Amino acid sequence: MQPEKYSFKTEVNQLLDLMIHSLYSHKEVSIREIISNASDAIDKARYESLTNPEIIVPKEGWKIRIAADRDAGTLTISDNGTGMARQEAVEALGTIAHSGTKEFIAALKQKNMENSPDLIGQFGVGFYSSFMIADKVTLISRKAAAKDDAGIKWESTADGSFFVEDTVKTSPGTDVILHIKQDEKKYLDEWQIRDVVSRYSDYIEYPILMDIVREEDSALEKGKKVPIRKEEQINSGKAIWLRDKADIPETEYHEFYKHISRDFADPLKVIHYRAEGTSEFTCLLYIPSHAPLDIFYKEFRIGPSLYVRKVQIMDHCEELIPPYLRFIKGIVDSSDLPLNVSREILQNNRQVTVMKNNITKKVLDTLGDMKKNDSEAFRTFSREFGRVLKEGIHYDFAKKETIADLLLFSSTASGGVAARTLEEYVAGMKEDQSDIYYMTGSSLRDMADSPYLEAFRAKGYEVLFMTDDIDDLIFSGFEYKGRKFKSVLKGDITLEQTAEKSGTGAEFDQLRDFMKTVLKDDVKDVRISGRLKDSPCCIVGDEDDIDPRMEKMLKAMGQEVPVRKNVLEINPGHPIFASMKDLFEKDNAVSLLEEYSRLLLDQALLLAGERPKDPARFSRYLSHLMVEEAKHASHPDKA
Ligand code: ADP
Repeated sequence: MQPEKYSFKTEVNQLLDLMIHSLYSHKEVSIREIISNASDAIDKARYESLTNPEIIVPKEGWKIRIAADRDAGTLTISDNGTGMARQEAVEALGTIAHSGTKEFIAALKQKNMENSPDLIGQFGVGFYSSFMIADKVTLISRKAAAKDDAGIKWESTADGSFFVEDTVKTSPGTDVILHIKQDEKKYLDEWQIRDVVSRYSDYIEYPILMDIVREEDSALEKGKKVPIRKEEQINSGKAIWLRDKADIPETEYHEFYKHISRDFADPLKVIHYRAEGTSEFTCLLYIPSHAPLDIFYKEFRIGPSLYVRKVQIMDHCEELIPPYLRFIKGIVDSSDLPLNVSREILQNNRQVTVMKNNITKKVLDTLGDMKKNDSEAFRTFSREFGRVLKEGIHYDFAKKETIADLLLFSSTASGGVAARTLEEYVAGMKEDQSDIYYMTGSSLRDMADSPYLEAFRAKGYEVLFMTDDIDDLIFSGFEYKGRKFKSVLKGDITLEQTAEKSGTGAEFDQLRDFMKTVLKDDVKDVRISGRLKDSPCCIVGDEDDIDPRMEKMLKAMGQEVPVRKNVLEINPGHPIFASMKDLFEKDNAVSLLEEYSRLLLDQALLLAGERPKDPARFSRYLSHLMVEEAKHASHPDKA
């Protein structure tokens, strides 16, 4: 049969293009990626062999083989794992499964590859990275369950398409044949391969065997050397998590991390421990040093891989960690669970709950330690994963204060960096201050200049700045050490000093009622502000109103959001209100006062980061006022 031709999906082509032209200096990682796929394929076959009698454990054991052929210019990496059928190969090696890939490619393009080839290093690009060292890749595969010799051959030169045809393969598994590029021939060298394997793939649990040729004394002719072919294991091959911590160098921990996470960057923290007691299990967990691009996607796969006595049972076991710790990568190897454990069993298993609680505590404790002893790493953590961790305040009632203690905030007192803890906030609270104040917004700069903070500044109260979409959901209603969280944007805030200074504002009652009537379609109330000092007015929500940022987010997601009216707060201490009061009482200049009322509302909206009600009208009126003022300026005596 003729080979069938298929086209790569667009994003694969883009990725291949990047690979081929990559200046990335560690191209040997492509060998690691292929070995890593081989190891995954064996994990799968080994697991399937537990339940599927058609899958037979190979007589020679589970193995990965590497053979370099200098004459042919090929490097072949073979496994006796699960293998691929035609359709699987077309799908797995013609598209990209990772949901963050599009963003990755966009990021690469934007950053200009030539200047930052290391960006490749921040992303697990898997199989396609083989085109960094090969100009043609051939893959021959046969399903572990296939009874006859029916295999498939997949081949591509990365020129937009690939070919697949039927072929004969005598044993199950996959051979990946790299036709090494002219200027990358060093990857055919035995010592180079040994070096790559010992550096990047030593932890692989299965033996990695290499075909080597040695000149040895001939048995037939004395004094003559003859080439002898041998197979030699070139990795140590013991499950890293079962080894003694003291014997594991950091680099090995890191390589193992890269293997399981498909991340190219070193992790921020390694957590390796054995739990004993009601449930016995070993954990090798990692906190990555940067957030994966898809961590906020629904499809993001949560949880470490689950092993039972060294056999991998599943890739991502979400029953083992709460979603707010979903940045954790790693493996958990249980000594007590049955090998045939299923999703259903996991969901209602007491032992699994014990493991989950234990892991949660361990991770939170580790973060606590980091906060105390390694503030730089902790800040990195906080920048990358603070947004994920804080979800726990909402979802984990028992641990919410522990979690809150692990958050870093920007605030009016933090000097522009997110470094303030709640402990510090509470310690710095003024004597007459009972609540913890926060402000939500999309930009720290805008917030820092906001009129909403005037009275807080005057009182010396610290205000936390929050820029994440979920902040209001999480913090409204939260209490930390008995202190309530209050949004400076919502509710009727009265800070004594300002109330004192401006009196109760009762003398403005009539003007206020007038404004309320004018603006009745747009605001639900006009009231005297307890939070303004210098600015004339601002809009605020009620205590139980939905946060404006939350509202925007819901709208963006296409959700119905009930129409919400704000409250307009006015600052009677501002001279505009004295003037308006005069106009109102003496001249009854109704139409002018109506215009002013609208203009004040528009200003308040602008200060809250929103649009004026009627931008055209706003602009017209502002220009009009400018003209008037200009007239006064040039003929001051006529005023
Ligand atoms: P990833 O391994 O991160 O999923 P890759 O691009 O490295 O991405 O591989 C794509 C897919 O191709 C794998 O998920 C797997 O389904 C399949 N694959 C690759 N190598 C092998 C192999 N040696 N045996 C079986 N399947 C493989």
